[in-house]
Amino acid sequence: MSAVVVVHGGAWAIPNELAKASVAGVKAAACEGYSVLKRGGSALDAVEAAVRALEDNTVFNAGHGATLNADGEVELDAIIMDGKTLANGAVSSVKNITNPVSLARAVMEKTSHCMLTSTGANQFAESIGMVTVPSEAMVTAYERTEWEKHKNYVTGVMEDFNSQWAHDTVGAVAVDCAGNVACATSTGGIRNKMVGRVGDSSIIGSGGYADNMSGAVSCTGHGESILKVTLARLILSHVEQGKSVSDSSQLSLKYMGDRVQGAGGAIVVSPSGQWAATFTTERMAWAAVDHDGLWFGLDPNERHNEQLPQ
Ligand code: ASP
Repeated sequence: MSAVVVVHGGAWAIPNELAKASVAGVKAAACEGYSVLKRGGSALDAVEAAVRALEDNTVFNAGHGATLNADGEVELDAIIMDGKTLANGAVSSVKNITNPVSLARAVMEKTSHCMLTSTGANQFAESIGMVTVPSEAMVTAYERTEWEKHKNYVTGVMEDFNSQWAHDTVGAVAVDCAGNVACATSTGGIRNKMVGRVGDSSIIGSGGYADNMSGAVSCTGHGESILKVTLARLILSHVEQGKSVSDSSQLSLKYMGDRVQGAGGAIVVSPSGQWAATFTTERMAWAAVDHDGLWFGLDPNERHNEQLPQ
């Protein structure tokens, strides 16, 4: 059984000035996740490590560097899921937490619930001694300027995913040497979203899903569209019917475009190590590590292969 990790850094019209840093960020995160698998770590440990690396990277809209809501504040959503047991944990609308994916994992492992939201999630973080930071410490100068520029959510959102500027939600999927799959997704959501808006990212079956019987998926793109078609589960339902992970992703994203005019992207891995990175937006930064080394791309049909850095 060969281990695989795939990561994405968000599907949208990534401007040229962010392209290089986005690709470098996903490559580094994929290597981070793979090093966990190589040491015999679980798929769950690998996706958490990869997503933490992306949350810590200010280029991406998750953790440090997240987009701001209508009040100019950070509100973060994340999910993690274990394909072996279907255990999952999620948090939504949390503040002051730099690695929401790890809080989601704590919800999964230390509570009997699947999701905690807002103040309850923050109280739980405090109760387990998770370090918090002042919200402002997570806001980059870049995001503050963009937020000022695009205060109009209504014109913003449809443009975001279907043409210009936006996001960089992050995600990872992995299969480990034992054939267990896992997924994780983390986001700041959509710039200028209403206070309390929760998108797809933390919602099981929409922003992510993992099941050893079919595979693991992490999604990105226009959250309200992804929610309407429960994109992660839709992709896996095609896999269950015998389609390849690549065809399943393409069919599902096309369905989302046709049915609700939403664009986005998805990464998928199957328990046997098949994987795909697919998107209908202009660009999506993605990277994968498998037995053939490091793969990565940004533009449609772009796929490079390199040896793993030593
Ligand atoms: N799906 C995320 C959301 O709607 C945004 C993104 O993927 O960039 O919250």
